[in-house]
Amino acid sequence: MRPAILNPLFADVSTLPGVGPKTGKLYERLLGGQPRVSDLLFHLPHSTIDRRNRPKIRDAEPDAMVTLEVTVAEHRPPNSRSKAPYRVLVEDETGDVLLVFFLANHIWVEKSLPLGAKRWVSGKLEMWDGHLQMVHPDRVLDEAGLARLPPVEPVYWLTEGLYQRNVQKAAEAALAKLPDLPEWQDDAFVKSRQLPSFKAALSTLHRPQTPADIEPTSKARARLAYDELLAGQLALVMVRAHMRETRGRASVGNGSIASKIEAALPFALTGSQTQALVEIRADLAEPKRMLRLLQGDVGSGKTVVALLAMASAVEAGRQAALMAPTEILARQHFERMLPLAEQVGLRIGLLTGRDRAAERARTLAALATGDIDLLIGTHALFQEKVAFRDLALAVVDEQHRFGVHQRLALGEKGEAVDILVMTATPIPRTLVLTYFGDMDVSTLREKPAGRQPIDTRALPLERIDEIVEGVGRAIKSGARVYWVCPLVDESEELDISAAQERFEQFTQVFGSTVGLVHGKMKGPDKDSAMARFQKGDTKILVATTVIEVGVDVPEATIMIIEHAERFGLAQLHQLRGRVGRGSGRSSCVLLYKAPLGEVSKARIGIMRETEDGFRIAEEDLRLRGEGEILGTRQSGTPGFRLADLSVHAGLLAVARDDANLIMARDPQLESERGQALRVLLYLFGRDEAIRLLRAG
Ligand code: ADP
Ligand code: MG
Repeated sequence: MRPAILNPLFADVSTLPGVGPKTGKLYERLLGGQPRVSDLLFHLPHSTIDRRNRPKIRDAEPDAMVTLEVTVAEHRPPNSRSKAPYRVLVEDETGDVLLVFFLANHIWVEKSLPLGAKRWVSGKLEMWDGHLQMVHPDRVLDEAGLARLPPVEPVYWLTEGLYQRNVQKAAEAALAKLPDLPEWQDDAFVKSRQLPSFKAALSTLHRPQTPADIEPTSKARARLAYDELLAGQLALVMVRAHMRETRGRASVGNGSIASKIEAALPFALTGSQTQALVEIRADLAEPKRMLRLLQGDVGSGKTVVALLAMASAVEAGRQAALMAPTEILARQHFERMLPLAEQVGLRIGLLTGRDRAAERARTLAALATGDIDLLIGTHALFQEKVAFRDLALAVVDEQHRFGVHQRLALGEKGEAVDILVMTATPIPRTLVLTYFGDMDVSTLREKPAGRQPIDTRALPLERIDEIVEGVGRAIKSGARVYWVCPLVDESEELDISAAQERFEQFTQVFGSTVGLVHGKMKGPDKDSAMARFQKGDTKILVATTVIEVGVDVPEATIMIIEHAERFGLAQLHQLRGRVGRGSGRSSCVLLYKAPLGEVSKARIGIMRETEDGFRIAEEDLRLRGEGEILGTRQSGTPGFRLADLSVHAGLLAVARDDANLIMARDPQLESERGQALRVLLYLFGRDEAIRLLRAG
């Protein structure tokens, strides 16, 4: 049960005075979903307007934001019907300024600026035609108004139809509702760092006294960042404790299947792969639950590790499941594993959202009786009707958006299921702790032997014709080419029409050797497009980013990325990772639209410089912030709202230690601080962890 003290913060934003049903809709757009008062409070100003700069007119600089104390000297209304602005001359003892109002409401101007009255006008000065002027002052105030003018005004991100004044007022109203919450942080910690209380911090951020108050490095920001980080870390530590507490079952394989698989592989495992398997098998053999992250760069060979781990579970007489994020990948895993599985006596099945009813029923029955050892599928695996006879190990492939909630859901599919999560790309160390802090980590640092470096080049889009010619020559000599079309806006529809267009254009040039695959295609069409490319029936595959994750066609050696400047670094790395998987020399062309911005230039530079995914991940974090790497920004899943890891990473480790200490001292969160921490978890939407505490 949510602590009652939080009720005012969980109320709908539209319950605030001044926010009606109409503006309520705008806040939905601004803040997402059905925003609560707390969402508004967490919508922090991104900058400030400093209204403390109050020079005499003589000393005022053009282009500066100033608040001037003036006397109204003269009204110069436009001739009737003229489109000229309404001008008002104001002055102090040192000079004068023209206030300029376009399409002015004359009555308002006359009333706000009576001749001879003293007024304060605040806004941006500019020099025009040799005279200082202020176009549409932000504020025109009398003495009483001045008294209410915040010296430093917060500036918020807006959405069309909302104005600064609206958000400022709403934030004020929200602050008025903010109760005094019990302190959930350790007193000594708060004192030693001189952090304000949660309430004081929010109030400082929405009512800054100086521009420095809202900087990410400010005490107020640090306080809130730490609150958010602690909530996250505490939830992870609680999940981990819960997982550890619910007894697991030991699954000890005898190597009978795994050794046959290894013998059948056309290569030897890398040292990293062997090491990861040792770690995973040790976990499986323990009578406690495994929660492990297998991280590795693109092409480092995570799938084989997963297969061998699953084989161990099957050797122990139990079942395993492999969940892929897309149909294409589930099918690819299935098709890859099938011949190998048949050879070694591993019975594998496939379950996707697309199976026909009869087929599906057969699969489910076989699963329940234990006639399927290893089930591969999409998120369909999560569904309630899917019942295993005895699931030992669940592997989740290439999944970024796999939250605590899904970990728990999957864990419930069997008696004490062991969980192995595989990442699509390396994740920077700070972020591993943030999102996977409840897991043990195995890392594949080595790449399989014999990989050749990918020749990466960047060319301006103007040279696309040359590239198309080059592609023509390459396919004549047997090469296979990915052609990735740009992200257009945020809209998948538009991406697809761009890909469609490119496909049609290439078909005219290259005929039936061109294939197309995109996210909105029907499943079977997508599969057959992939299959034809895999078999070499098509040589050029025009694609949207659906091929980004995991797709494996070792014969493909050329990757062209159109409008590379629109992709994030992690994405570019993923895409490039689709080539260089076989023995042939591969190349990657980044076609960009000139001129490049600073960040895009840096990204493309890094792509040309290195193929080390771990390094790229760190650079990506530096360049784009953490959201991009974990795909949260694209998916709109809220990541952090208050913490900025490029500034607050140091606090993360502290929060981690703190969370561990809390769990050690007060695992049920029963103490006074424990109760306050429950409030914190609810406040940051981490309350799913509370349900893991023993009832009562
Ligand atoms: P990822 O880690 O990106 O999922 P995959 O598991 O898809 O990588 O492996 C990429 C390719 O490398 C596959 O074709 C796989 O068969 C091959 N591979 C995996 N391990 C090795 C190895 N030890 N030596 C050579 N090739 C390997
Ligand atoms: Mg893979």
